[in-house]
Amino acid sequence: QVQKPKLILDDGRRLDGRRPDELRPMKMEIGVLKNADGSSLVEVGNTKIIAAVYGPREMHPRHLALPNRATLRVRYHMTPFSTDERKSPVPSRREIELSKVIREALESSILVEQFPRSSIDVFMEVIQADAGTRLASLMAASLAVVDAGIPVKDVIAAVAVGKADGVVVLDLNEPEDMWGEADMPVAMLPSLGQITLIQLNGNMTQQEFKQGLELAYKGISTIYNLEKEVLRNKFAEIHEEGS
Ligand code: UDP
Repeated sequence: QVQKPKLILDDGRRLDGRRPDELRPMKMEIGVLKNADGSSLVEVGNTKIIAAVYGPREMHPRHLALPNRATLRVRYHMTPFSTDERKSPVPSRREIELSKVIREALESSILVEQFPRSSIDVFMEVIQADAGTRLASLMAASLAVVDAGIPVKDVIAAVAVGKADGVVVLDLNEPEDMWGEADMPVAMLPSLGQITLIQLNGNMTQQEFKQGLELAYKGISTIYNLEKEVLRNKFAEIHEEGS
């Protein structure tokens, strides 16, 4: 058993050199796969996710089709090489649960009523895992949905906050996720001010919870601007091609 390292160093910085309110470097790209209707690549620090979206298309098997809206089917999966120790490719209970959590969060962003009897299928592959994979996957899925031309209320922006050595921190890295006192992923539809996912593992005081949520809002606003830039660039490109 490895001993818990010090998570906040004497100069107040974290193990990766960040201050408590700093995000990890982030990269987002859409339209990365030619065989999907929509796709994306999202990198948050060392966490890397590929998402692919198919649909809206005719639902198979047909008896599962809903008369009034599209059905969203979502798979979150970790590749065997994404973690320190080889992960079995067979979906674990954790992956099945995260698929459901991500589906529910994503569904609230999509105008599913516009596509009765159809299915929208979303696949997320964790290529490299270094904490925060559920949120990076959710954002990758949301960007891929927009890339597929599916109408949404807003693109989802998300970040985890938590507590490490008693300090409220933004965007947990793996040691903080593993050894910290609390981990709270938060996802939002920022322009609507709606929270679509929030979970809390560990413990925080009410004061820390409030502080954490404020920190998450700040991080989400930065991430949302980055997403909008990525989408604007892509759609400007299409516009130029068309004109
Ligand atoms: N992790 C791992 N193997 C697993 C599951 C998780 O190495 O089978 C690592 C991975 O880096 C992941 C982190 O533990 O990002 C935290 O996992 P958690 O369940 O908290 O979800 P996440 O923070 O990725 O959404």
